Amino acid sequence: MLTPRQLFLKHQAQTTDFPLLLEIEKAEGVHMFGANGEKYLDLISGIGVSNVGHRHPHVIKAIQEQLDKYLHLMVYGEFVQSPQVKLAEALSKTLPENLSISYFVNSGSEAVEGAMKLAKRFTGRTEIIACHNAYHGSTHGSLSLNGSENFKRAYRPLLPDINHIQFNSFEELEKITSRTAAIILETVQGEAGVRVPENGYLKAVRERCNQTGTLLILDEIQSGFGRTGTFWAFEQFDVIPDILTCAKGMGGGMPIGAFITSEAIMSTLKNNPILGHITTFGGHPVSCAASLATLEVIQRENLLAGVAAKAALFKAKLQHPAIKNIRNCGLMMAAEMESFDILKPVIDQAILDGVLTDWFLFCDNSMRIAPPLTITETEIEDACAIILNAINKIMA
Ligand code: PMP
Repeated sequence: MLTPRQLFLKHQAQTTDFPLLLEIEKAEGVHMFGANGEKYLDLISGIGVSNVGHRHPHVIKAIQEQLDKYLHLMVYGEFVQSPQVKLAEALSKTLPENLSISYFVNSGSEAVEGAMKLAKRFTGRTEIIACHNAYHGSTHGSLSLNGSENFKRAYRPLLPDINHIQFNSFEELEKITSRTAAIILETVQGEAGVRVPENGYLKAVRERCNQTGTLLILDEIQSGFGRTGTFWAFEQFDVIPDILTCAKGMGGGMPIGAFITSEAIMSTLKNNPILGHITTFGGHPVSCAASLATLEVIQRENLLAGVAAKAALFKAKLQHPAIKNIRNCGLMMAAEMESFDILKPVIDQAILDGVLTDWFLFCDNSMRIAPPLTITETEIEDACAIILNAINKIMA
């Protein structure tokens, strides 16, 4: 008989060269538990998903309550469904006035697709500008925005009229012109290895957009829902987008995404006869209930207040000559080492010793540190001790 791991390799699509291959039985709070009694402290959070920890009781309760009412009813946007309505209202309360209307979808990539379509429709323009080293998703449209040629080469032709600029380059903002429908940026670049915008950069992007009538789309799929210490990362950079995309941490472990904008912009999607955006499962009521509960947990447990000190503790404890630099915005962190050849065995060792971490799509010399925001000081100290020990074992 084949083991689950062998079955996984035989019958499931293999999507990475280095699958972690851990067999997880249960996940609770900041921990995952393996099939053979292993216990892992999770510093990945399902790539920025489990911001309130795994299986938060309030989220589980909201899911259970919705399970007793209804699952799927109708393609998104036809019926008034209370989990959607409550979530849309709660989201608008976390946002500036112009970001008052949510379109719920299934994933980050779909949120980006919706945002792009919306920008083209609203402006009547076709050019979209993205940044080098950006990651906005894996569908053909969102892939076209990808800032790494390696990931796109095999899929050309992709969307036309997509151009790239350097993130944090003030000079390149001149490339945004009156023919640009939108510029899309991650408020903090995630898969580039946590690249934080320089002082005044996002403000300068906003000003250039205002001059040229270009929409500013901020992708907070990875940086939103408290990850950086404010509910939305853009709150820290004195900028307000025209369209916001979110997903990942939004669902507290359930699949959901959204693109959010003003009434004026969103209303362009409903004009017949041109199809706006249609999604069967977008805004699934169970996901919406989970998302609202996640938002409530972040607020009620005051999770944002602890983020800066927790990030500072990681930085203070992760002192080692082999760690060259730590970049972060709140608990969205990257610890840089010399190369992947050193980092990879350190990660493997840390996992063996009970700390789950990995690296970034476009930055393979940096360790991902993005634990649930609920992680305690003691757990941070334990995690750092295990990582330092792993480095010493590998470098010995
Ligand atoms: N945008 C950003 C910034 C992301 O980090 C990701 C996922 N890593 C996406 C978009 C795509 O989200 P999804 O995988 O849910 O399609």
